[in-house]
Amino acid sequence: MATASSLFLGSSPISTAPRTCTGPAASCPPSARPSLRLRQRPSPAVAAAVQAEHQPAVAAAPKPPALPFRVGHGFDLHRLEPNLPLIIGGINIPHDRGCEAHSDGDVLLHCVVDAILGALGLPDIGQIFPDSDPRWKGADSSVFMREAVKLMHEAGYELGNLDATLILQKPKLSPFKETIRSNLCDLLGADPSVVNLKAKTHEKVDSLGENRSIAAHTVVLLMRK
Ligand SMILES: [Zn+2]
Repeated sequence: MATASSLFLGSSPISTAPRTCTGPAASCPPSARPSLRLRQRPSPAVAAAVQAEHQPAVAAAPKPPALPFRVGHGFDLHRLEPNLPLIIGGINIPHDRGCEAHSDGDVLLHCVVDAILGALGLPDIGQIFPDSDPRWKGADSSVFMREAVKLMHEAGYELGNLDATLILQKPKLSPFKETIRSNLCDLLGADPSVVNLKAKTHEKVDSLGENRSIAAHTVVLLMRK
């Protein structure tokens, strides 16, 4: 099975068509989802021709600086539907509804993954783990987390700190917050002192406030090792 790491080999293996939907969330209508397919690799002859054509520009291009810090932001939202499990941060939260999604719909892990990928300047979770791929159907989102953490280390960075905010009207998360945070720390391989988790309601307005959806924001700071 190709890993996400292997997807980045080559010059530009992933389609960079304009993105209108991120993550394996099923909250976006199919028509809004970009077509995310690996590009066909050009024949050696074509590749050589392209390389020759761009040789002067490539030679002149400055090497990107190895930044001491990198910041990333992640956002995710899922529609809530009856008779589905509600998984947040890898923890099954008792509720009368759960997230509609191709994977397990873990809104927190999805947005943490996107924050890490964003900090690394990589494509988003929906491009690396497309919801058109049957391998990710019902997938435990810890798989995506482990891959993002691996990519972070491969790029030479470690987590500085992370701040996440969950937005949901119900249920009250306070009884589960520490368990969620602890699991998040395990997945990140991070000390609890650098992982912060907040939860708030949406004041009973809009889909979030009417118990019809759940969202999360995450900001991460990565530090060069
Ligand atoms: Zn998602």
